[in-house]
Amino acid sequence: MNNTGPFLTSRLLSSVPGLVHGFFTRRGGVSSAPYESLNVSWTNGDAPGSVLENLSRIGGMLGFDRLVSGRQVHGDRLNFIDEPALPELESRPPLLIAPPGDALATDLAGIGLLIKLADCQSVFLADPVAHVAANVHCGWRGSVQNISGKVVRTLAEKYGCVPERMLAAVGPSLGPCCAEFRNFRDELPPGFLPYQVRPTYFDFWAITRDQLRSAGLKAENIDIIGRCTKCGTSEFFSYRGEGVTGRMAAVLGWR
Ligand SMILES: [Zn+2]
Repeated sequence: MNNTGPFLTSRLLSSVPGLVHGFFTRRGGVSSAPYESLNVSWTNGDAPGSVLENLSRIGGMLGFDRLVSGRQVHGDRLNFIDEPALPELESRPPLLIAPPGDALATDLAGIGLLIKLADCQSVFLADPVAHVAANVHCGWRGSVQNISGKVVRTLAEKYGCVPERMLAAVGPSLGPCCAEFRNFRDELPPGFLPYQVRPTYFDFWAITRDQLRSAGLKAENIDIIGRCTKCGTSEFFSYRGEGVTGRMAAVLGWR
């Protein structure tokens, strides 16, 4: 992991020519409390003008003049952003609005795929040969649905990706220190029990890593950033830690 100002990067993904990515922190934006400062959600009470300025800064820092994002619904739908899909998207510069869904993928250059987060995982995926990148929003419901594994399989079946050469990075999110599920018997499948690190606490980073491995990725091609958002609310937005707060951006795309 490298720390280059208001966003974190994965050394693994930084090795891919043409791939641009950043797990943004809460710093470097214009929103005021409780959204201070780099909030990218306008459905949580923040001023829309501030959100658009924050989005413009994020695009500028990574060199994207177009960002794609959509309403995240804790499902497992993938929106593939290719040339035919572009005219269908609503434009709210610098944002293009995708249909509701929790995974975005593209093979186009110049478009940043943006996921909004405050404790959930952003899972970046890239196949350097097929020139396909994907950004997955994965909360615990996404983990239960194995959205990460499903996206890898869909990219392989429909878009020419080969899991054995794909790279992945999991961003700042709720760590095993803070991922408490008191109702885990109702909410989580029995297959997650081995990931219980102490009573009612679960390691969702390990769950995602193993789901990606089961989908065919190599262990050495999976980078877990390993920063807990609830433990680091000076640097990150955390829904569990703060309640009403902002949403961070995780952005990935091709130069
Ligand atoms: Zn923690």
